[in-house]
Amino acid sequence: MAPVVDTLRLTAEEGIGLVERREISPAELHAAYLEAIAARDPELHCFLRTTAPGDGSSIPVALKDVISTKGVETTAGSKILSGYTPIFDATVAERCKSAGLTLLGKTNTDEFAMGSSTENSAWGPSRNPWDPSRVPGGSGGGSAAAVTAGLAPWALGSDTGGSIKQPSALCGNVGLRPTYGSVSRYGIVAFASSLDQIGPVAKTTRDVALLYSVIAGRDRRDSTTAELPEPVRVPEADSLAGVRIGLPVELNEAEGIEPGVKDAVSRAIALAEDLGAEVEECSLPRSVRYGLPCYYLIAPAEASSNLARYDGVRYGSRSDGDGYREMVERTRDDGFGDEPKRRIMLGTYALSAGYYDAFYGQAQKVRTLIIREHREALERFDVLACPTSPTVAFPLGERADDPLAMYAADLLTIPSCLAGLPGLSIPVGLSEGLPVGLQVIGPQFGENRLFEVGHALEQAIGFDTVPTRLR
Ligand code: GLN
Repeated sequence: MAPVVDTLRLTAEEGIGLVERREISPAELHAAYLEAIAARDPELHCFLRTTAPGDGSSIPVALKDVISTKGVETTAGSKILSGYTPIFDATVAERCKSAGLTLLGKTNTDEFAMGSSTENSAWGPSRNPWDPSRVPGGSGGGSAAAVTAGLAPWALGSDTGGSIKQPSALCGNVGLRPTYGSVSRYGIVAFASSLDQIGPVAKTTRDVALLYSVIAGRDRRDSTTAELPEPVRVPEADSLAGVRIGLPVELNEAEGIEPGVKDAVSRAIALAEDLGAEVEECSLPRSVRYGLPCYYLIAPAEASSNLARYDGVRYGSRSDGDGYREMVERTRDDGFGDEPKRRIMLGTYALSAGYYDAFYGQAQKVRTLIIREHREALERFDVLACPTSPTVAFPLGERADDPLAMYAADLLTIPSCLAGLPGLSIPVGLSEGLPVGLQVIGPQFGENRLFEVGHALEQAIGFDTVPTRLR
C-alpha cells in the first residue's frame, strides 16, 4: 500500500526524495495529488482537466492551460479554443516530460492570460485557498492556488505583466518570472510575444530553482532564447552578507499600496539587513508613472496581432455563417470573451495607420527608457525589492466590472517585465490573514542571485505556506 503523503506540506524536493528512495512510486504520488484534487478542487477550481499518471519516473507537474500539451486539450481559458487538442508539446512541456515529470493536469487561467484574478476565464474563476471568497490572482491563479492547496507539488505559469508573480503573492507561495529569452515560448498560446515568459511556481525557492533548471536554456525553435550564461544553482546559503538591495522609492511608496503590505515588506527588508544585506533607497522615476500605460499599448497591440489567427478554420470552435467572412466574424464574436475583445480593439487602434507612431511607437520609446533606468539601478545594486502586489487578495467580483482597477493590480510587476528582467515573488507574511509577497528583481540572467536572496529570506522568515483554514 502506498504511504500516506500530506500533499499540503510536501515540497517538490521532498517528493523527489520519496520517489528516488522508492518509498513511493511516481504513479502512487500522482494518485495522491489526484485524490487531493478530487477533495478540494470542486471548491477552488484550479484545474480545467486532470490527466492520468502515464509513465514518468519522477513527480507530477501542473501546467497552465496556455501551454500546448500533446493529446491534451489546451484552451488558454477561452471558448474559442474549446476542443483544441495540440498534436505537439510545447518545449517546456517536452522538457518536463524528459525530466520524468508526469502531467497532472491543466490549470485555469484568465482568457488568453489577460487578467489579474482568473475571473476572465471562460470556464469560471478559481478561488484563493486562504479565503475562497477571494481571488487567487491572475492570470495564473489556477497554478498558484493549486500549489498552495496541495493539489500539485509545483506548476508552470506564464507571465506577460505579472501573471506568475502576482498570483504567487496572493496565494502565499514562490513564483519566478524568468529573464525574457531564458525559457522557450515555443508551443505557448501567444499573448504579447515581446513580454510572454514561462516560469515556475512552488512552495519553496529551492523548488522553483529546480523546476527552472528543467525548463530553461536555448531552444532552436524559439529564436529569442539564449544559452544560460551559468548553470542554475539551487540555493543553500542563509546569509545575505554583502548583497546590495536597492529599494526603488516609487515602487515602495506607490499610491494604493495597503499599509499591511508595506509593513510586511518592511519587516522582510529589516530581516535582510540582519542577514548582512546592504539596503539603500534608489529611484525608478518613470517605471510607475509610465509602466502601466506603456504596457497597455504594447501588450494589446501584440495581442491583436497574435489573436488574428483564431478564425474558426485552424483551431478550436467554429460558428456557422453564410460564407467565409460571416463564419469568421461569428466565430470570433461567439468565441472571445469581453477582455480579449477589448484588447483586440485597443491594439488594432494603437497599430492603425496614422496612429502607429503616436501610440505604439511612443510606447516603445518609453519602454527603452524603462529598460535604461532599470539597468542603471542594477549597476549599483545586486537586486531591487518592493511589494509584488499593492494589495492582498481581493474579493471575487470586486474589480470584475472595472478593467482599470483590475489593470492596477500589476502596477508593481509590470515595469521589470517591460525591461525583460527576472523577478521572484516570495511570501513574507500576512496582512488581514492573507499572504503578502515581496518582489525581488534582478539583472538579465540574474536568476541565481534571486534564488539566493529568496532562499535566505525564506529560511529567516519561516512563512507557513499552508493556509490557516487548511492546517
Ligand atoms: N494582468 C496583466 C494583464 O492582464 C498581466 C497578465 C499576464 O501577465 N499574463 O495583461
